[in-house]
Amino acid sequence: MHEEVQAPLYITMHASDNVAIVANNGGLPAGTVFPSGLVLREQVPQGHKVALTDLAEGSAVRRYNVPIGFALKDIPAGSWVHERLLKMPDARALDNLPIATVKPEPLPPLEGYTFEGFRNRDGSVGTRNIMAITQTVQCVAGVTSFAVQRIKAELLPRFPNVDDVVALEHGYGCGVAIDAPDAVIPIRTLRNISLNPNFGGEVMVVSLGCEKLQPERLLPPGTIALVDERDAAGKLDVVCLQDDTHVGFMSMVEAIVRQAGQHLERLNARKRETVPASELVVGVQCGGSDAFSGVTANPAVGFCTDLLVRAGASVMFSETTEVRDGIDQLTSRATTPEVAVAMIREMAWYDAYLQRGGADRSANTTPGNKKGGLSNIVEKAMGSIVKSGSAPISGVLAPGEKLKQKGLTYAATPASDFICGTLQLAAGMNLHVFTTGRGTPYGLAPVPVIKVATRSDLARRWHDLMDINAGTIADGSASIEEVGWQLFRLMLDVASGRKKTWSEQWKLHNALVLFNPAPVT
Ligand code: CA
Repeated sequence: MHEEVQAPLYITMHASDNVAIVANNGGLPAGTVFPSGLVLREQVPQGHKVALTDLAEGSAVRRYNVPIGFALKDIPAGSWVHERLLKMPDARALDNLPIATVKPEPLPPLEGYTFEGFRNRDGSVGTRNIMAITQTVQCVAGVTSFAVQRIKAELLPRFPNVDDVVALEHGYGCGVAIDAPDAVIPIRTLRNISLNPNFGGEVMVVSLGCEKLQPERLLPPGTIALVDERDAAGKLDVVCLQDDTHVGFMSMVEAIVRQAGQHLERLNARKRETVPASELVVGVQCGGSDAFSGVTANPAVGFCTDLLVRAGASVMFSETTEVRDGIDQLTSRATTPEVAVAMIREMAWYDAYLQRGGADRSANTTPGNKKGGLSNIVEKAMGSIVKSGSAPISGVLAPGEKLKQKGLTYAATPASDFICGTLQLAAGMNLHVFTTGRGTPYGLAPVPVIKVATRSDLARRWHDLMDINAGTIADGSASIEEVGWQLFRLMLDVASGRKKTWSEQWKLHNALVLFNPAPVT
């Protein structure tokens, strides 16, 4: 592909910033003169920061109009400002925060956008028609996986309206302190995942028999009735491997295959119907971030978040350690004091969780983040928060809880890609958007994942893994708004099943990883 040689370019996020990032692929050498007259004193890699003015020792280094660090020595204009030259600011205390102070003009409603989805009995809408097999404990994973291979080979071809069969494998269920206060998180996560809209309310469980997480504890009577009236009596479809009736491995496998057939038959009768875009439940997150994440992909996602909120949809942003440093921006955007207080509650819980483990929020950044130009968690956080757009924040979810409202919600989760994705699935996500700068082939079996590249070079090299290239924003060939609309339209196509994402195409599925802050035994 022909690539134009780009003139020297740096990108500033705010007029009062005193650093900018170098946009050019491959970085720029010492002596480079920018159109502003600034001269590089040394080589600066792509995505890394250059000092726009002389920075005296101790002065604030500003990006996104916030101090992302303090200069550890004098830094002349044109220098490479890397993490070794910066002292990270202390975390903002969780008291005296601005509460619901920002009252943005209501965004004009966005009407007339629809997609083709699977309407469920509880009113939720699926974007895929997937049969899921819930497991109470890791012990049954091998048997279930064996049975799923047979279901896919022997049964699935007879049910063309069903997209896939997925075993919800996880590491929980036994060998854990199941009565510890925090055990509520992994248990409700598993429960709510099995009720994800993409599974059509068909719940089937494989249990070992002796595990701590008994099927009735995972899915107490009444939980299934919410999604499937046939089971209003609270009867759960369970295959228990230790049942006396099973003689031999094949007896277990056949029981699973036989039971699955009944669910597949009902799922196969479902048809897509036209539903408003407001039925989208979108989880946004980022992973493998670089300095472009907060310049290209995340702002485009943020613009798209606003479009979704205007269309009446539900959007969740998460990743507590990546928004902790912008807590004052978030509490001020809360629609009510109650929402702000809930946000502070979740952040305080997470602060204590990290402290218990002898870590703090700075444990978040990776070597790859730093190589990509992100000096510390403050800089990373500012680039991460922009995924939430500008809409008011109207809801807060604790980890593993189910989302029950429209609009923009802060779903508190760790930033770990798999744990965040797993918790957003539990919340009821039916479409996932994932931005990456360093590059990750991330995917989840239960839900389509749209991946957005922050740089054109990544989009070029990973052309069959990245669904959207937001690097066009840094290249100057597209605006944030244009990429945001492109993403919005792609979402409707993907949600309708008209398009598959690359991770669906290649069946790239990462493991479900439960967040278990409680002890194991
Ligand atoms: Ca993440």
